[in-house]
Amino acid sequence: MQYRTVPKTGDSLSVLGFGAMRLPVKGIAIDETRAMALVHAAFDAGVNYIDTAVPYHMGASEAFVGRALAGKYREQVKVATKLPPWTVHSRADMDATLTAQCSRLQTKKIDYYLLHSLNRENWDKLLALGVMDFLDTAEATGRIQNAGFSFHGDLETFREIVDARDWTFCQIQYNILDEEHQAGTAGLEYAAKNDLAVMVMEPLRGGMLANAVPSAAHDAYDAATVQRSPATHALRWVMNRPEVTVVLSGMNDEAHLRENLQTARETLPNSLTSDEVAMMAEARDAWRRAMQVPCTGCGYCMPCPFGVNIPECFNLWNNHSLREEGWTAKIEYAVRLGGALDGVSVNAGLCRACGKCMTRCPQQIPIIDALCTMQQTYEGPLWKAKKFIISHAAGVGTRILAHRAHKGRERE
Ligand code: SF4
Ligand code: SF4
Repeated sequence: MQYRTVPKTGDSLSVLGFGAMRLPVKGIAIDETRAMALVHAAFDAGVNYIDTAVPYHMGASEAFVGRALAGKYREQVKVATKLPPWTVHSRADMDATLTAQCSRLQTKKIDYYLLHSLNRENWDKLLALGVMDFLDTAEATGRIQNAGFSFHGDLETFREIVDARDWTFCQIQYNILDEEHQAGTAGLEYAAKNDLAVMVMEPLRGGMLANAVPSAAHDAYDAATVQRSPATHALRWVMNRPEVTVVLSGMNDEAHLRENLQTARETLPNSLTSDEVAMMAEARDAWRRAMQVPCTGCGYCMPCPFGVNIPECFNLWNNHSLREEGWTAKIEYAVRLGGALDGVSVNAGLCRACGKCMTRCPQQIPIIDALCTMQQTYEGPLWKAKKFIISHAAGVGTRILAHRAHKGRERE
C-alpha cells in the first residue's frame, strides 16, 4: 500500500480509502457477511481510512462501520464521519448528533470529522448555529481529532471556507470531468497550498467513468501502451496529483478491491506519462461530447436571479444520461435540486426565461431550452406532490434514526 502524509499532523494515510456508502447489499439492506469480509480484506491489505456518514445506506452505514472496526482494527484504521447540516437545527443538535455517532461507531473519538456537503446555504446555516464553537469544543475535549468539511458548492465559497478555520482536511469531488466543477483543480491546489489534506470523493463520478464509457473513450483507452480498465485509468488520473492525500472508493465487489489495491500500490504522485495525460484528455473530451449538455461547470452563467443552479442541473442530467438511470434519477433530482430534503430548491423549473445567463456561457449552451427539457423530464405534473412524498419518506427515516439514538442512550 502507498501512504501519503497529512500535512498538519503527520498522519500516514493509505492513498486508497474505503467509502462506506456503496457496500454490498441484499435487497436494500447491507449484506453484513459479504460487506464485513470485504472491509476487513481492505484493512488487512493496508487500507487505514474509512469514510461514512449518517445518511449512507439509509442510516445503517455508521453502525456497520462501528461493528467492522470493533476489536483489533480500531487502532490501525482512522474513521471519518460527518455532521449533516439538514438535520441540525441548533448548537445542541450538533453535540447530540456527535454523541449518537460515537455510540453507533463504538468509539469515544472520531478521527476525521467533517461538516457534510457544504455549499453556500449549508455553510451559512451552520455558521449561524455556532458550528465553530462546536468544532473548537469537540476538538478541545478530544471527541474530534481532526476537523474538516466535504464540499459541493462553488469555488469562491470553497476558498472562503478554507480560509475560515485551521482545518486539517477537506473532501472534494474530483475526477477527469470535474476539473472546473465545484472546487475543481483550482480548489485542490488552493487547499494543498494551505496545508490541508485533500480526500477525494467521486473519483469515478458515481461509477459513470467505469460503467458508462462512450465508444470514443474506449478507443482512447484501447490505444494505450498498457491495457487497464476504465476505472483504473480514472483512479490513476486522480492519484497522480501530489495534492491528493486519500482517494475514496465505494467498493462493493472483491474484484474492485483487488484492482484498486494494485492501482494504489502503483500510482505514485506525478507518475503518469505525458502520453497517458494526453489519453485521459482525449477520454474526457469523449465523455463531454456524449453528455446531454457540454457544460463544464465553470459557473460563468451564475447567479440566476430566480435561484436555478444551472451547472448543478446540467451535471445531474449528464450523470443520469450516461449512467442510463431510471426512476431513481427522479428521486435524486428531487433531493439534490428540488430541495426535498433540505428545503433549498435550485431546480430547472424555477427558470423564468429572463435570458440573463444566456450571453455568459462560453460553451454557448441554449440554457433556457435545456432547462425546459429538464423540467419536462424530471418534474412534470404533480411536481410538488412528488417532492412532498420524498421529503416525508426522508423525514420518517430521520425520525427512526433519532429514536434509535435515544434508545441507545437509554441503555448506556
Ligand atoms: S434564463 Fe432562466 S436560468 Fe437563466 S438566468 Fe434567467 S431564470 Fe435563470
Ligand atoms: S456558463 Fe455554460 S458551461 Fe459554464 S456552468 Fe454555465 S451552462 Fe455550464
